[in-house]
Amino acid sequence: MTERMTELLETKTPIRGRLIRPTDAGYEDARQVWNGAIDRRPVLIVRCREGADAEWALRHARQNGLPVAIRGGGHNVAGSAVCDGGVVIDFTEMRGVEVDPSRQVARVQPGALWGDCDQATQPHGLTIPGGIVTHTGVAGLTLGGGIGWAMRKHGLTSDSLLSVDMVLADGSRVRASHDSESDLFWAVQGGGGNFGVATGFEFRLRPVGPEILAGPILHRADRAAEVLRFYRDFIAGAPDELAVFVNLRLAPAFDWVPAELRGAPVVMLIPCYVGHVETGERVLRPLRRFGPPAADVVKRKLWTAHQGMFDASVPHGWGYYWKSHFLPPLTDACIDVLAEWAFQPASPASYTLLFHMGGEVERQHDALSAFSGRGAAHAININGAWTAGGPSHPDIEWVRAQWEALVPHSTGGLYVNFLGNEDEALVRAAYGSKYSRLAEIKARYDPQNVFRANQNIAPAGLASL
Ligand SMILES: Cc1cc2nc3c(=O)[nH]c(=O)nc-3n(C[C@H](O)[C@H](O)[C@H](O)COP(=O)(O)OP(=O)(O)OC[C@H]3O[C@@H](n4cnc5c(N)ncnc54)[C@H](O)[C@@H]3O)c2cc1C
Repeated sequence: MTERMTELLETKTPIRGRLIRPTDAGYEDARQVWNGAIDRRPVLIVRCREGADAEWALRHARQNGLPVAIRGGGHNVAGSAVCDGGVVIDFTEMRGVEVDPSRQVARVQPGALWGDCDQATQPHGLTIPGGIVTHTGVAGLTLGGGIGWAMRKHGLTSDSLLSVDMVLADGSRVRASHDSESDLFWAVQGGGGNFGVATGFEFRLRPVGPEILAGPILHRADRAAEVLRFYRDFIAGAPDELAVFVNLRLAPAFDWVPAELRGAPVVMLIPCYVGHVETGERVLRPLRRFGPPAADVVKRKLWTAHQGMFDASVPHGWGYYWKSHFLPPLTDACIDVLAEWAFQPASPASYTLLFHMGGEVERQHDALSAFSGRGAAHAININGAWTAGGPSHPDIEWVRAQWEALVPHSTGGLYVNFLGNEDEALVRAAYGSKYSRLAEIKARYDPQNVFRANQNIAPAGLASL
């Protein structure tokens, strides 16, 4: 820590939040993120209570020449919410969600998690189409685009964004929307945390639930290729209300998994129907009959229950390593690769997850936002997960090998929010054709690349920082 920084911290700071330094009780906890493979030591964590605290933290980091990281939910697999030797602008304690049901609008603080949003919106039968795990942060997910169960009906999370309050690199505050700072607004819908500190989000709410039809259908893995071919053909005609994700893994020992299947390699087809439940029963009939499956756990349930379904499979503190692709509709050759590779991990916690895109995501005009990948049929996320935490595990090699085997079947793009600490070529591939406009906007709003603890976009004209 610089002398000046120490001096500053010893005088009383004008913020409502809390400063957490390496010598403070709670520092070890405060520097942990979801991914237990990440081990970084910031010199200061500023636990914000209001937007002005973030302004203060940013100003003082800049005055002291320290790197800056921003923490929303702390879930990014790359661990970009923390940095070594820098200042973390930490929103862990700003989790408020205010709902205006008559206008169907919600205001969300930057530390809110998806579970917080659903708790506040579901009593009104509304939701923000977000992610599929309740303990993931709204901020990082939205700024990268946001894909989830309701996207085929209601679009990406960022498509529901109405405005974002931001503190910019020069310390000024703006509200970006379609009508004001529109370039910035375009950029933060897919360009991540490259452009400033988001201190508040306003979302359009969408009607979903409270009751939906959803749940896993399990097939034994020796039928994987046949099941995936049926799946491919079935979803080709799926209505927007239906998303069917696929999880290829060893069946976990959860209550809903029949005892005889626990620990067995399985293909889980996971439909989620967000329209009328009775219509959903009809739509899902062929999918549930095929096989027949080894188990069918599809049922009427609360949207909040379905949103929490994966929570226990990806707890905080395990070690994780991910790689991903966007895929076109599955070909037989791609299915053969999946059937060959997906069941080979050493850790029973590792898995391969296929998101089902299309519908409203694809229909929205590609130029609407910085998100790249609207035309993909699937995002695939190959997830190495090991319960002991720490940086290394043999499944890292398995993730890389399966990812390599899928390269010929990829669109060439990938979802920015599933990137780990990758080389620049993959970061560029994630921003795709939007990269050069993003770099120009970056040069306008953050010419010195203050916000670089992210999947970084170098300001146009600046080779690298
Ligand atoms: C278990 C799990 C499930 C997931 N499921 C989904 C899913 O269903 N759909 C999906 O789309 N993604 C999903 N993701 C990926 C997720 O979108 C990213 O990990 C995302 O970065 C998480 O946001 P966060 O706020 O929790 O992240 P953090 O780690 O806190 O932040 C990640 C980055 O976002 C930026 N950022 C965060 N907050 C701010 C802010 N207030 N202002 C400016 N920049 C900010 C920063 O650059 C930061 O480095 C999942 C991730 C995990 C770990």
